[in-house]
Amino acid sequence: MEMSVKGDCCIVCEKVKKEGIYVLHSFICLQCEQEIVQLEPEDPAYRETVKKLRKLNMSGLLSK
Ligand SMILES: [Zn+2]
Repeated sequence: MEMSVKGDCCIVCEKVKKEGIYVLHSFICLQCEQEIVQLEPEDPAYRETVKKLRKLNMSGLLSK
């Protein structure tokens, strides 16, 4: 029997999710990843997310 995927803790929403991507050893769930790429720089949520990503030196994920 295969080991079940237990997922990981997303660094953005801080919830354990099964689907997501790893960037520089940090996990971002699929949902947050999609939200990040759709956020407008004017959006307060964008700034909040950027702050978190900067802490992890992940701002390269953002194309804006
Ligand atoms: Zn998330």
